[in-house]
Amino acid sequence: MSQVHAEREIALNLYRHNTPLMVRVLANRRLTPPECANEVHHLTVQFPAGAFPFLEGQSAGFSPPGVNARGRPNVPRLYSIASGRDGEDGTGTTLAICVKRVLYQTESGQQAHGLASNMLCDAQPGDLLPMTGPAGREFVLPEDPPANYLLLATGTGVAPFRAFAQRWAQWPAEKRGKMWLFFGVQTHGDALYADEWAARAEDPHFRMTYAFSREETTADGRRMYVQDRMRMAGQELLAWLRDGQAHIYICGVKGMEVGIEAAFAALAQEAGLVWPVVRQQLWLAGRWHVEVY
Ligand SMILES: Cc1cc2nc3c(=O)[nH]c(=O)nc-3n(C[C@H](O)[C@H](O)[C@H](O)COP(=O)(O)OP(=O)(O)OC[C@H]3O[C@@H](n4cnc5c(N)ncnc54)[C@H](O)[C@@H]3O)c2cc1C
Repeated sequence: MSQVHAEREIALNLYRHNTPLMVRVLANRRLTPPECANEVHHLTVQFPAGAFPFLEGQSAGFSPPGVNARGRPNVPRLYSIASGRDGEDGTGTTLAICVKRVLYQTESGQQAHGLASNMLCDAQPGDLLPMTGPAGREFVLPEDPPANYLLLATGTGVAPFRAFAQRWAQWPAEKRGKMWLFFGVQTHGDALYADEWAARAEDPHFRMTYAFSREETTADGRRMYVQDRMRMAGQELLAWLRDGQAHIYICGVKGMEVGIEAAFAALAQEAGLVWPVVRQQLWLAGRWHVEVY
């Protein structure tokens, strides 16, 4: 199924688990410093021209080798594409993903590792990987330059917003609305792509607000989360809600949307608005997008 999305059709699932596109690893660099408990990698892969026509906000799938507990081949795990449609080098033959190494304890207390994330974090330049997708049609960036974009991310949820920002910067400056990224992470070391955001923030229409949950506290002594920063933004954020020009995107850790909705509800109430009604209007207008995992 495909839908026309501005100048380009949304390509969906051109490659599936049984018919993947083989891509070559070009580069793999760790984004978080070694002392940071969270290990996140920026992995760039290459494919033939025209083979993987993705849009900003779509994901790519990667399957770990082997079989699952039921003896079936491991299924692909999705990763948001962190590059704009022209890829990492402007040729449209590369894309990057941003992968957190998953480590966990089994019920019996043994250390275990997530299959796909560890495969990707350990991938070496030159390796060939089977890739599926492009996946997802609800979280893509619309070709709507004058609109305002409110982006709310935690952790690797910032990956699609890197792609959004790259596309947004391609639109003529005089036609562009505003982009405001709220980014919640534990520490400064976890602030993925911090140098890129700092460079973007030189554009007066791009704004960046961090929430460092392990390094900052709220006035009443709690950990600082995205929703706390949203409440602190108060009237300014409310203006974004009210003018009907904003597209709102939430991406990151499952459950983050709960606190964010509570912050929106509190802001709406201050302005005499009913949050469920506002959200319904945003959703009906295709301006409310959530991708959590
Ligand atoms: C739309 C979408 C976009 C995403 N984008 C990103 C992204 O940009 N970056 C990113 O890093 N991730 C992203 N993810 C998450 C990603 O798809 C994977 O879920 C994640 O990397 C873990 O996969 P894995 O194969 O490493 O872990 P798995 O091996 O699948 O394990 C995942 C979890 O399952 C549990 N588990 C598995 N086996 C056992 C067991 N034997 N006993 C107990 N518990 C067990 C553990 O809790 C473990 O943490 C995205 C997900 C979605 C749906």
